[in-house]
Amino acid sequence: MSEDGFVTRAVVFPLDVSPSEERLLMSYCGARRFAYNWVLASVKGNLETRRAEREAGVPEAELTPSVPWNAKRLGTLWNSVKGEVAPWWREVSMHAFRSGIVDASQALENWSKSRSGERKGRRVGFPRFKKRNKSVPSVSFVELNHQLSWLHENRHAIRLMLPRSTADPVVKRRRGELAWLHTTTSTRRLYRLIEQGRASIQKVTVAKRGGRWQASMLVRYQFDARPVPKPRQRYGGTIGVDAGVKHLATLSRPVPGLTDYDGCVTNPRALESHLRRLTRLDRAIARCEKGSRNRRRLLDRRARLHGRIAKTRALHLHHLTNALAGGFDVVAVEDLNLAGMSNRKRRLGRALADASLGELRRQLDYKTLDHGSILQPVDRFYPSSKTCSACGLVKAKLALHVRTFICDDSRCAMSLDRDVNAARNIAREATRILEQPAEQQDVAGLRPETGNAEPRPRKTMPAHAGMAAVA
Ligand SMILES: [Zn+2]
Repeated sequence: MSEDGFVTRAVVFPLDVSPSEERLLMSYCGARRFAYNWVLASVKGNLETRRAEREAGVPEAELTPSVPWNAKRLGTLWNSVKGEVAPWWREVSMHAFRSGIVDASQALENWSKSRSGERKGRRVGFPRFKKRNKSVPSVSFVELNHQLSWLHENRHAIRLMLPRSTADPVVKRRRGELAWLHTTTSTRRLYRLIEQGRASIQKVTVAKRGGRWQASMLVRYQFDARPVPKPRQRYGGTIGVDAGVKHLATLSRPVPGLTDYDGCVTNPRALESHLRRLTRLDRAIARCEKGSRNRRRLLDRRARLHGRIAKTRALHLHHLTNALAGGFDVVAVEDLNLAGMSNRKRRLGRALADASLGELRRQLDYKTLDHGSILQPVDRFYPSSKTCSACGLVKAKLALHVRTFICDDSRCAMSLDRDVNAARNIAREATRILEQPAEQQDVAGLRPETGNAEPRPRKTMPAHAGMAAVA
């Protein structure tokens, strides 16, 4: 969240495209890929030429001039050579080429900054050429004027603003065919926000991910004052969340309509069958000979299944996080790393659990802001699963396969589902942290990674978008 009164978020609209629209979109994505690769090839060739000339002793002033890396100057260069390298350029809109050039320029910049140490994190290599079958087909459109033209007021549709000013009737017809793309969700809300001047579309990226076309809009929202929690949320109080693999999550107490009798948010049935299929596939892959064609095919299928699992989980996570952020005052979660460690030995994919916990945190992060609730992370060293939620006694060890927590204290002897116990402890620990005076909260090892871990007693709440999740 920035402080200038605006926040930028991606809003994704799944698209429902016809075969002819798909063909046209593919040609746009192809043109973008062409421009991207053209930039890389020009820069790479140029760098090599200059290096060879330097080695041959050519003085610095007489070297072949360097190819610019700046997107604007690359655009000018492209315009001067496009007739030669891409005589078909008239068939697609300049948006497609610009999108490729801007992305390539950004990739080159990342590479050079990483090399000079200006960019932190993992080393970035020289950008790779985009292969037709390996890269995600995608193309971006940037058009800051005529904001309302992107969306249809009432229908589920977005419009790609392709300039129609061409004399070629074939091109004109092609562009007309691609004017409106049907979305599977409503665009009305965003339309209204733009109409009221509270949002603007910065960029629209159309891409085919996991076999489906989608339009991802980068939207800049104006934010209002942070909303005050509703009575419903205050009544809900604090809820503890323990994310897992077996269940999507476990809450510190059962919530009607969201969890089962114990407090577990069960995985959707579709996900269960996906997970069963994944186990079967894993076994089949293990039986295959390494390097065989069959194994490659199964690995391919496994990757697609993984994508489907991730998508199904994310969808249900949205349902869960909406309910959590909108129904409670404080949402308590484990710190990210803790879950990563505790799930390591669980059988079905640590990566899956980590991914969904990360996604849970990401969604809760902005949704709690939207609803005026607090997201309170609990320290990673807090023994949430080993503590008795009734008497507070901490066990020395609790093996991962033990699904029921039984208190060692004979007077307490509480017996509870392991995850429910952990969720209750997380809720209690969050309450303890929030009740501490603000100065001590840092001592307690609280890292407000989210920027949202602020204690409730504040006179002025930070301003924020009053926009609920659109994702
Ligand atoms: Zn106990």
